[in-house]
Amino acid sequence: MVIATLPLLAETPTLAPAPHRDLCTDCGVSRSSWAHQCGKACQFIHPRYETLERQVHGRARDVARGDEAFFGVHRAMHRARLDRPRAGAQWTGITTRIGERLLEIGAVDAVLATASDAEDRWRPRPVIVTAPEGMAECRGMKMGYSPLLALLDECVARGYRRLAVIGVACQIHALRALEAELGLEALYVIGTPCSDNTTTERFHQFLGLLTDTPDEVTYLEFLADFRVELRFRDGSHRYIPFLQLPIRDLPRDFFPATCRSCFDYTNSLSDLTVGYMGGEGDQWLLVRTARGEALLDLIRDEVTLAAPGSRGDRTGAVKTFVALSERAAGGLPVRGAPDWARPVIGWAQRRFGPKGLEFARTRVEMKCAEGILALRHERPHRMKRMIPDFAWHLVARYGLTPRAGERLQTPQETT
Ligand SMILES: Cc1cc2nc3c(=O)[nH]c(=O)nc-3n(C[C@H](O)[C@H](O)[C@H](O)COP(=O)(O)OP(=O)(O)OC[C@H]3O[C@@H](n4cnc5c(N)ncnc54)[C@H](O)[C@@H]3O)c2cc1C
Ligand code: SF4
Ligand code: SF4
Repeated sequence: MVIATLPLLAETPTLAPAPHRDLCTDCGVSRSSWAHQCGKACQFIHPRYETLERQVHGRARDVARGDEAFFGVHRAMHRARLDRPRAGAQWTGITTRIGERLLEIGAVDAVLATASDAEDRWRPRPVIVTAPEGMAECRGMKMGYSPLLALLDECVARGYRRLAVIGVACQIHALRALEAELGLEALYVIGTPCSDNTTTERFHQFLGLLTDTPDEVTYLEFLADFRVELRFRDGSHRYIPFLQLPIRDLPRDFFPATCRSCFDYTNSLSDLTVGYMGGEGDQWLLVRTARGEALLDLIRDEVTLAAPGSRGDRTGAVKTFVALSERAAGGLPVRGAPDWARPVIGWAQRRFGPKGLEFARTRVEMKCAEGILALRHERPHRMKRMIPDFAWHLVARYGLTPRAGERLQTPQETT
């Protein structure tokens, strides 16, 4: 893969091609000098959530403590928005603003983040950013895999010892697993939640089903009010209720097995998670470590914070989701609501559905259920190793419990 250079980003090297692996999101390790470490670092081959939580937070998550079962170890949660939202950002731009601040004050030599391919706004392009102005190029979500960690070799070669990394959970799992071997003086990890990623090609196909003018779309987001927002080049917006998405027109393998069997929705190994799920229209921050607090302090005087709200009851929505997913995973046809009823149900979801933290809990439980069912039907031999205990804990109330041989009886991890 040859990567073009943008003027404000440090030159990014040409990366080795990615070798084929069964479950792999091309986090970049296999293209780097640490390629032989995939077996140790990968969340699909050797997931080590508990061990890595101890490494990062000093303890593993306690499922009996507050919301830890859902969101992982955290010291504080906030609704948040930048007082001056940045153009091109996915939400208000907190993620890239923190990267900018780290570079402005000289706390890091470089930030590893994901910009867009020069030819395709939606295709991820991993970059090494060394000047604050370069962070603007990284704003906004791209759909596809970003081999971010392949750039660690270049950072080592340039003598960068103080790094920040902005990434999704499968990248951060591998980063934390390798952290001790990287010889860094400082590592700041800003994570975003992540769900339903797919290849850039598949995403273009999806856009083509949503609109007659897919090339005009500049922004897409799955909002916390059960709608997808599309923005177009001419400044117009369109909102599509989840229920009216053309999901049944998508091929069965549209969402890859990797992302359907990924359990760390909220990026629990980061110092600071920046998402939107619990934010009721604002952003949602999970401060996890002392370093995460220091990251938030960098933007304190330019961000409005509030306590996150929580309303509604997720039980019915998750129960229905689990029942439908079980049918679909078993190959049975899923009978959805008739077309005439969808707008009414969509309205009712927005009006009465779970909101704030309850919405975030809903999505986390759904993702755990989806992961367990996907593995049960597609890769049962992987279940013992891949499903963390917290996932079984969360879905037990929906009658989804381990069958013989699906869960390790002994501790899941070795270091
Ligand atoms: C595929 C995907 C799915 C997501 N799903 C959810 C979700 O379900 N719930 C939720 O709360 N949040 C989700 N997010 C995060 C969300 O889209 C925002 O990135 C986040 O809320 C930060 O917003 P911001 O305005 O601060 O980001 P910005 O300041 O606009 O910065 C966006 C950052 O995202 C990084 N990035 C962009 N695309 C990718 C990519 N493909 N891989 C790795 N990093 C990337 C860039 O490095 C950039 O720093 C998802 C992100 C991705 C990439
Ligand atoms: S560690 Fe990264 S590159 Fe290696 S198999 Fe896993 S996702 Fe793929
Ligand atoms: S859903 Fe999970 S596996 Fe897929 S890209 Fe996001 S963090 Fe990685």
